Amino acid sequence: MLSGWIPLQLLLLVLLASGRVLQSEAASFCTKADQCAVGEEVNPAASVAQARYDHTRIYLVQLASEEHVRFFQALELASDSCSFMGHARVPGQKLTIMVTGSKVADFDDLVHSYNVTHRVLNYNFQALIDANYLEVAPETTPADQFDWKRYHPLESIYNWLENLAKQHPSVVTLVDLGSSTQGLPIKGVRLAFGRENVPSVFVESGIHAREWIAPATATYIIDQLLNSKDPEIREVARSQNWLIFPTVNPDGYRYTFVGDRMWRKNRALFGICRGVDLNRNFPFHWNVTGASGDPCRYDYSGPSAGSEVETQRIVQYLEQHSQAEKIKTFISLHSYSQMIMFPYGHTPDRVENYQDLKEIGQLAAQRIKDISGRIYKSGSIYETIYPSSGGSKDWAHGHLKIPITFSYELRGPSDSEDLFILSAREIEPTASEAFASLQTIVQEAGKRGYYN
Ligand SMILES: [Zn+2]
Repeated sequence: MLSGWIPLQLLLLVLLASGRVLQSEAASFCTKADQCAVGEEVNPAASVAQARYDHTRIYLVQLASEEHVRFFQALELASDSCSFMGHARVPGQKLTIMVTGSKVADFDDLVHSYNVTHRVLNYNFQALIDANYLEVAPETTPADQFDWKRYHPLESIYNWLENLAKQHPSVVTLVDLGSSTQGLPIKGVRLAFGRENVPSVFVESGIHAREWIAPATATYIIDQLLNSKDPEIREVARSQNWLIFPTVNPDGYRYTFVGDRMWRKNRALFGICRGVDLNRNFPFHWNVTGASGDPCRYDYSGPSAGSEVETQRIVQYLEQHSQAEKIKTFISLHSYSQMIMFPYGHTPDRVENYQDLKEIGQLAAQRIKDISGRIYKSGSIYETIYPSSGGSKDWAHGHLKIPITFSYELRGPSDSEDLFILSAREIEPTASEAFASLQTIVQEAGKRGYYN
């Protein structure tokens, strides 16, 4: 008996000492909590619980009738196992729904029972997420190796911004809006090429954590504004000052790398659930439509208008600086659905410069079509995507009176099979078409006298 026992002990010691790969095997030997804790000391990262989407399916359903609308509204309220991308509203609508593995049989039966036209866009969402995590550059990537062929964690983005300010001290100023709920800085840059009396463009990005293409596009825009040799880009760059904040929800963004790739909100704790949808939290017609009062929902508008630290940082900065910086253009970057939208989201009523924004948006979308063939839809938020309230651009336009206000939904298309998990191959084409269309917006607004 004794001779059999010693090798097993030795094997266990070897397994524990050799760390990461063998962590799970060591854990399988664990019958007591203290033994498991030894394994955790070997590799703390392995003890972090990370959301998994194995066998999670993505369905695209088409609502044919009022009955279907009511059915999916009830299902969204009833089931934690179905995550809706938008809400069921009107017959004719298409809706993307993420269904966890344990619910797949039941859900599939339901859509057949109610004759709902549907398509399975993805059978195992985790595979897409696994591939996406392989496209993340190490956190230790030096600033001079920052690129747009991979996605970058928060620390690398901040590192890169800081480095830009050091390398181009006469043009780039690092701006810290202050700390987030969990104490992370909200860093961005101010680019000013030294021309007197020019207006400013404000770019807000990453307010929704899982939309990784947004920070990637914001950093691409910064790089192009600074480094492009193209005379047209250089002229547009110098015609404005630029205030660009790639990750205004740093807690959420960091959490998508270590906790849940599909996280959207900030990380504030409310009872049994976390997170406010910061793009439903702005103090302008707050919580009137297209937002939830339940902290467990993805579009929770918060306990009160402007309740969240991150919202307050943006609001305070813009209230203090929009006059002095002459901010005439406000851009927010999101994904997905390929849309270029302007206010409002809470009402079908048209903003006073609706016609200009409509035409400028259409020209911006045409610019993208000319470049890549991609179709972007343009219109007001209310008429283009779905009613919503408390969004930053509605506040920027309605409260701060910033006349040129657009919100992008970047790639992929609205029936995308990848949802927010856009392959890193698509960063450069997505960012470059978006940047070109932003140039169109600035040029067209200039022609119409908005910057005089
Ligand atoms: Zn978004």
